[in-house]
Amino acid sequence: MANRRHHWDVPACSRVRKIHNPFMKYFVDSTKIKPNTNKDVIALAVGDPTFYGNMPTHAAVMDAMMKTLTGNNPNGYVDFLGSMEARKAIAQYITSTETPLQAENIIVTLGCIGALDLCIACIANPGQNILIPRPQFPIYKVICDSYEIEVKFYDSMPENNWEMNLEHMESLIDQKTAAILINNPATPMGVVYSKRHLLDFLAVAERNKLPVIADEIYAHMVFSGSTFYSLGSLSKTVPILSCCSLSKRFLVPGWRVGWIAIHDRNGVFEKQVCQTLKASAGILGSPSAVHQKALPDIFKNVPSKFFDDTVAYLERNATLLFQIFMEIPGLTPLMPRTAIFMMIKISLEKFPEFQDDQEMAEQLATEQNVYCMPGELFLLPGYLRITITLPEDKIIEACDRIKQFCAKYYKSSPSTAV
Ligand SMILES: *Cc1c(COP(=O)(O)O)cnc(C)c1O
Repeated sequence: MANRRHHWDVPACSRVRKIHNPFMKYFVDSTKIKPNTNKDVIALAVGDPTFYGNMPTHAAVMDAMMKTLTGNNPNGYVDFLGSMEARKAIAQYITSTETPLQAENIIVTLGCIGALDLCIACIANPGQNILIPRPQFPIYKVICDSYEIEVKFYDSMPENNWEMNLEHMESLIDQKTAAILINNPATPMGVVYSKRHLLDFLAVAERNKLPVIADEIYAHMVFSGSTFYSLGSLSKTVPILSCCSLSKRFLVPGWRVGWIAIHDRNGVFEKQVCQTLKASAGILGSPSAVHQKALPDIFKNVPSKFFDDTVAYLERNATLLFQIFMEIPGLTPLMPRTAIFMMIKISLEKFPEFQDDQEMAEQLATEQNVYCMPGELFLLPGYLRITITLPEDKIIEACDRIKQFCAKYYKSSPSTAV
């Protein structure tokens, strides 16, 4: 046996080894920080709205789960695309005259990330490219990397309310471009695109005959004065895979219940993409049967007041944080119109001690035990990302500590003027 191994030398798959997940790296790096143990931890980096216990899901959601658990056979396998009842319930939840959807157009997935993973895997070959936004939710690139699909970043325009730079986007398109990915409402900036902007975007997709993957996880979670338009409702011709989940709106991110809604009125996806999506969904299967069986009751029984109250709470918190941060020299908050985060711009020239947002975030954690996400993770250097889901007393405490920290390092004129 000349080819037999003689040593326990087991390499990992080189393709997977190359994947770099900035979220994972952040958590590994932050364990190296030696925090100030005189202060309790304030986690402003979390992306889980249930973390602090102040934002529970609605009682009707828990009731639906209890009913399922004690009901008729909650334990069997369900169809690998999702149970027919769940798919029907999701279709009914989204469908409208502008976006007619039926159970056949829905695939139940392992969270919104599971939906994005499936869409990206099925729409491009290794070596092709997908256009994705910058700033971005880091997982888009991680997924593309894992399938050896090239990523091309299109810019947003901070001077234009963070709208997508459609000219830049279109200039990136080449023969290897397989799809455009869009996030609306958009994180981490908390921007809700206008109808006009979305129509302009769809015109780019239409001109170039490129399908769209839309991360719409913050659908309907928009603050007063903003309106959400689902991409599927604005086009009859561009084929769109819309990804969403229960995680943020129903406040159950740990359930891992998400879906793909296939908007394909002219049957563009029907030839190949649909079959491929369905075949791939069959490998991992859909989320737990118990959760899927509860879906029809959840959609039926959660009152719209619950969603309104959640959004109003987030907006109140965001407003409070915005007012406090406006008063801290060297920091400029960006008022979000959606979602669960706020970006804070650092005038780095006022903090010569720190080279970048990452160094500042690390020192803040070390001294004050306050953890923020460096903007660099989202390809938005010079910013910090904080969660707005924490209770008011924690907001006050966190802001006090950040204020102290900034006052300590703030220099009104750069000490190393060139
Ligand atoms: C939270 C989040 C996701 C992940 O959703 P899951 O349902 O937890 O998989 C996807 N996209 C964005 C923009 C998010 O903020």
